Amino acid sequence: MHQLGLAERLLQLPHVKVSRYTVQMASRRFVVADFDRLRWLTRYPYFTRLRQPRFLEFIVAEAARSPYFCLHRGARAEELIGDHGRIRGVRYRASDGWHEVRASLTVGADGRFSRIRKLAGAGFEPIDVESPADFLWFRLPRRPEDPPEAGSVFRVGVGGRSLSVFHGDGVWQVALSIPHGGYRDIRAAGLPVLRQTIAELMPEFVDRLASLQDWGAFSVLAVQPSRLARWYRPGLLLIGDAVHVASPLGGMGINLAIQDAVVAANLLAAPLRTGRLRTRDLAAVQRQRVLPVRITQILQRTLQRLGQRNESSRSGAPLLARLPLLRDLPAWMIALGPWPVHLRVGAASRVDSAQLAGFAGLDARKYACLTTFRRSGVPVPTTVWFAPDPGQRRLYLMSLRTAGKLKRLAHNPHVEIAPATALGRRLGPGVPGTAHFLPATDALLAARAFDTRYGWQKKPFDLMVKLLGAERVYYAISPD
Ligand SMILES: Cc1cc2nc3c(=O)[nH]c(=O)nc-3n(C[C@H](O)[C@H](O)[C@H](O)COP(=O)(O)OP(=O)(O)OC[C@H]3O[C@@H](n4cnc5c(N)ncnc54)[C@H](O)[C@@H]3O)c2cc1C
Repeated sequence: MHQLGLAERLLQLPHVKVSRYTVQMASRRFVVADFDRLRWLTRYPYFTRLRQPRFLEFIVAEAARSPYFCLHRGARAEELIGDHGRIRGVRYRASDGWHEVRASLTVGADGRFSRIRKLAGAGFEPIDVESPADFLWFRLPRRPEDPPEAGSVFRVGVGGRSLSVFHGDGVWQVALSIPHGGYRDIRAAGLPVLRQTIAELMPEFVDRLASLQDWGAFSVLAVQPSRLARWYRPGLLLIGDAVHVASPLGGMGINLAIQDAVVAANLLAAPLRTGRLRTRDLAAVQRQRVLPVRITQILQRTLQRLGQRNESSRSGAPLLARLPLLRDLPAWMIALGPWPVHLRVGAASRVDSAQLAGFAGLDARKYACLTTFRRSGVPVPTTVWFAPDPGQRRLYLMSLRTAGKLKRLAHNPHVEIAPATALGRRLGPGVPGTAHFLPATDALLAARAFDTRYGWQKKPFDLMVKLLGAERVYYAISPD
């Protein structure tokens, strides 16, 4: 989110920050994941819990700023469009009937019951990677005096029963692990027995278990972690739960899915842009992601087994919490996966000639020489960074509010822009253009385009602007 320039705005949504996860075993409680220890690595050293619908609406609103984004709500992909063994898009059903979307690449990101995976044909059958876990979900009333950290405790009881509590909207959401297929036995034993099990695992909540009056208060969820041997076929790529179902344990599934998408963007943006996507590009996505996914699934399985062991044999877990290197492993894995994945600045920001139609010579450059004109007509060259606005075929530029060129542009918007070195030496002929200042919404897009294009190179400049308390202005240049 930070790399996309969205973290700060995302954190304006109602959310809960969790700095550490603890494990409660009868008599002992120990920290299993301390995100605060990752402070050296990230400026957001905590786990954020927020309502999924709010998060998704936020992402949709941000994506809608792009002229290339399109969302069809209520659309169910039902068929793949095939052509000589290659997938060319999908047919989907919506409230107004059947539609088709044709594309050079179809990405199946439709979750653990993926329809696209089923349609992909032979060789795309999920391989189970561990014993399935069933969970009983229910809600308990939350009171103002409840400690917030109650929502970050993983409780393990006798017989391997475990229970996790999460912050919900005004309630506690609770997941009780039960043996796979064991719900029938639990029902046969009766509600008082179930309430007693829950009370043993979370004694401090015992006074509100009366709210669990009938079986309607519980929903059963079965999760069968799995993986696919192959993630792609010509024209089709599967990512996220569609290709590797993650257990809810440790809350790692969303990160895995997002990291798949980031790697796919890094590797596929350029071939898609140039119309030269090959099946081996899709294979490269699988190659980069298969190991981190396997490691994560193995860690989840280990955690599940640790939780299922008897009380007497649990001495290994607190040891994990004491050993310096191992101590940070769970926090690292939950926050980053086995290793961090970054949106590659190059892939997201490479400027190709098509985007820069009208600005010949700038496509291979990071610097430009911008010439503005005094009232007297005297030209004034300055070296600038620029970022393309692909939808509009114009260049974004930025400047400090006090810069002389902004004053010159205010009375004469005509400019000339030429490729240049960092020291301002012109490397080609100038292109005439007209500058216009951007409204606030466009300025946000421009800021993001700069962040993506210049990344770490821009950080010292950002710091200087902050220290000076200066104001930044974004403007755009269109070719005449
Ligand atoms: C109970 C539970 C709790 C979990 N808790 C956490 C947690 O706290 N943290 C965490 O990181 N992970 C958690 N996970 C795992 C996490 O939810 C998944 O790993 C993650 O959501 C996978 O993302 P995805 O985009 O691949 O699929 P999903 O998030 O499942 O998204 C798939 C999307 O595709 C849509 N879709 C499905 N079929 C079609 C179709 N035919 N046509 C069009 N659209 C379709 C669906 O409506 C959905 O919007 C949990 C999982 C479960 C089951």
